[in-house]
Amino acid sequence: MPQPKTFAIRTFGCQMNEHDSERLAGLFVSEGMVEEEDFTSADVVIFNTCTIRENADLKLYSALGQLKAEKERRPDMQIAVGGCMAQKDRGEILERASWVDVVFGTHNLAQAPALLRRASLEGAIVDVWDAPDPEAARDMAPALYAVRELPWAAWMTIQTGCDNTCAYCIVPSVRGEEISRPFDDLLSEGRMLAKSGVTEITVLGQNVNSYGRDITRRRPLFADLLRALGEIEGIERIRFTSPHPKDLRPETIAAMAETVAVCPQLHLPLQSGSDRVLTAMRRGYSAERYLQRLADARAGIDDLHVTTDLIVGFPGETESEFEETLAVVAEADFDSAYTFVFSPREGTRAADMAPDFVDDDIVANRFVRLKEVLDRCALRHHEAREGLVEEVLVEGISRRNDLMLSGRTRQGKLIHFPVTEATLRPGALAMVRVTHGAPYHLLGELESVQRAPRHKIRLPLMSS
Ligand code: SF4
Repeated sequence: MPQPKTFAIRTFGCQMNEHDSERLAGLFVSEGMVEEEDFTSADVVIFNTCTIRENADLKLYSALGQLKAEKERRPDMQIAVGGCMAQKDRGEILERASWVDVVFGTHNLAQAPALLRRASLEGAIVDVWDAPDPEAARDMAPALYAVRELPWAAWMTIQTGCDNTCAYCIVPSVRGEEISRPFDDLLSEGRMLAKSGVTEITVLGQNVNSYGRDITRRRPLFADLLRALGEIEGIERIRFTSPHPKDLRPETIAAMAETVAVCPQLHLPLQSGSDRVLTAMRRGYSAERYLQRLADARAGIDDLHVTTDLIVGFPGETESEFEETLAVVAEADFDSAYTFVFSPREGTRAADMAPDFVDDDIVANRFVRLKEVLDRCALRHHEAREGLVEEVLVEGISRRNDLMLSGRTRQGKLIHFPVTEATLRPGALAMVRVTHGAPYHLLGELESVQRAPRHKIRLPLMSS
């Protein structure tokens, strides 16, 4: 009996890419292939690329460089490059790495297995679509076929692309316009996931709260989707990323407050606290309007955990504008934040603002000062949880201490607690009393076990 072919996927970038890689793995597994970790021994290696960060290019080409000798040693081995950088750079990838067999884009991910078969007969192929085939985009292979990292938790892509035009962002040009998946498809996918034992769904999109805007018949709102997913039996936790502050509607806040399964967690990217910078970024809101939306969300949803994204050193950012950001961040009092140093991406408006680029030393200094404000807020939020009993979805043995278990509270906070209950397995739900709030995590003690894991070990279906 011939050994099944093996494949290995390396993912760069965001959760959308992580989920695309899960779906890619599902496609290759449904072709009878076996996934493996070791790149140098896999028959097929796929790079699912990102183009958001400056050194994304460097990472990819150094990884491809490492495989050159292996490809010479095993000419039948195949290498494919997909994702946002492939969508942007296309044939240039073959010019820089001629040992690559296939380059595919963000709109034709499902073609990867077929393109690799063709390349084994015809030679290297670059097949990148300029725009998604709406039907293909709409009837995206359900997450059910995805090879998920956590059997009890699933990502669900509800929308591809983005209609916004933020000056620093390359996403609209590599992922195209917003296309929402049909409402009923998402509900049936949610039910299938629940049947397979998934208890937590994270809804994904570049701008989730504009979901449905492109659907003409019976146009659903994002709020409707949250409520409907919340009615699916077995789904206990619903999270979502990423919403845009200008599209945060009262209906969404009400749906979050009134749908038990929707977790009290909101990621609301601010990016800057200066109105002049926000305008230059083309974000579509002012700092005051952002703070008002945040206040509405906090007023409407109990115990809301709020995180954000912040860019330091956007072209032209002055010291006083940066201080405006510090003031808004202090007022917003975030639970935590992802902070980025501005890096120009070719093909974006901001990349043409070179004369206004801020000096690296100044940016580094501002980055440290911003972190100080954020860390103070984060620690205060964590200390405020001390003594509370949190519902925790257990993820497994702590990476830092194998006498501890780790999990996430409903707010999404990371918590570690001693293993006192041998039967407590990943995917289980437990009640944990918080004993200590640290800057980036909580510590606790197990109070009780709510329920055992529900997920079933699943064998992928062979696709027709
Ligand atoms: S909302 Fe702005 S930052 Fe987010 S994906 Fe769209 S263009 Fe990029």
